[in-house]
Amino acid sequence: MSTPPSKVIKLDALVIGGGVTGLWTLDRLVAAGHDTALVEQDALGQGQTICAQGILHGGTKYSLSGLLAPGARQVAEMPDRWKEHLEGANAPDLGQVRVRSEACHLWRTDSMKSIISMAGAKVALQVKPEPLQKHERPAVLAGCPGDVARLPELVLEMPSLLETLAALHPGRIIRGRVESGTPTDGEHHRSAVTVALGEEKMLISARYVILCGGTGNEDLLRMFSPDSLPVAMQRRPLHMAMVKGADDALPELNGHCVDGAKTRVTITSSTASDGERVWQLGGELSEIGCGRGEDEQRAAARACLRATLPGFDVDDDRLKWGTYRIDRAEQDKHPARKRKSRPDDVTITKAGGLVIVWPTKMVLAPRAARQVSHLFEPGTGAGAPPFPDQSPPPIAKPPWETATWH
Ligand SMILES: Cc1cc2nc3c(=O)[nH]c(=O)nc-3n(C[C@H](O)[C@H](O)[C@H](O)COP(=O)(O)OP(=O)(O)OC[C@H]3O[C@@H](n4cnc5c(N)ncnc54)[C@H](O)[C@@H]3O)c2cc1C
Repeated sequence: MSTPPSKVIKLDALVIGGGVTGLWTLDRLVAAGHDTALVEQDALGQGQTICAQGILHGGTKYSLSGLLAPGARQVAEMPDRWKEHLEGANAPDLGQVRVRSEACHLWRTDSMKSIISMAGAKVALQVKPEPLQKHERPAVLAGCPGDVARLPELVLEMPSLLETLAALHPGRIIRGRVESGTPTDGEHHRSAVTVALGEEKMLISARYVILCGGTGNEDLLRMFSPDSLPVAMQRRPLHMAMVKGADDALPELNGHCVDGAKTRVTITSSTASDGERVWQLGGELSEIGCGRGEDEQRAAARACLRATLPGFDVDDDRLKWGTYRIDRAEQDKHPARKRKSRPDDVTITKAGGLVIVWPTKMVLAPRAARQVSHLFEPGTGAGAPPFPDQSPPPIAKPPWETATWH
């Protein structure tokens, strides 16, 4: 026999999922006067957010590869918006977030087309690449035969973004497992959501339930809307590669190699808990890499860096190589199509009192959160935090802390 709930909590809104989208949405709903809490099943950011490379994209990468769709105009305005938060001029105040780099580099290994003439061809970009003279290039890019440019796109340390957002709302974020939930129409029928906190169970009665669970939204949708799913979800898998080493074997580098019509590789730097530097290797390498096994992907990563960073010693035996797999979760706008493409913008669906959110990019999370809060009339006040005695879930461990290195 299942344990009956020991506590009943009444809320305006319950956010499910503590990645960047859920945490930012919680903040905006509280600011709009809604009594809101967030439940996370694991560690904060455990899905995509902790793996994100942390780049506040402004659309240039897509413009360079000729892929900039009309919806990417929204991306173009995001870096300025984030700056206001990072400077503490706008809520949520992200003044405590660690900015890893003030800029990325863009480079080509061919010299066919100029980076500068390609960028901005399709949209008025707020962040534009600035060409670098040979002597201005970082040493690791000195051997590139093609253009090298500096792109003023910030790179954030993802754990510190999660820590900062979570610290804004003590007593509103709990770690628990959502066991069941009834549908809600948001007006007259509240949802009764059962949440298990270890042995204890709690019944949360909420007018609105906001699904921010990333890939977890698929199961949550079936739970909250079993009869007619309001939207379908798609996964776009990645097989990320990583390389780790001491600072003198692995220099700081953040940026994209944009040969041809593709981002061949996106490299971002982080520091592991043992003090060594780690590069995450995304872009085309990680997309095509889905069809490769781990050994093959490590070999492909070496080959890719050998080709895209001619001056970098990939054979330095102080370097260790690792990989991990992760799915990006988005709304499937065309379920009948086999080939899945990224939606242009955030996708938000409201079905009665159920709201389903996918931001498509970390940089768009503030836009998603604002749109969710605009779905409702302002509340009458968020009130006291509903869980004053509960500590929040921990922050997820970055993938390089749990990887196997070879
Ligand atoms: C490798 C990689 C690199 C990326 N790099 C960038 C980048 O540089 N810049 C950029 O803008 N974007 C980037 N992205 C995209 C970005 O990471 C995502 O768009 C964004 O993090 C999605 O955040 P989210 O909060 O919606 O989902 P997630 O981060 O996946 O969070 C979902 C949360 O919900 C929780 N959850 C799931 N189910 C339940 C449940 N039933 N009950 C309770 N909790 C639940 C999960 O544990 C998780 O914490 C990258 C993505 C990947 C995979």
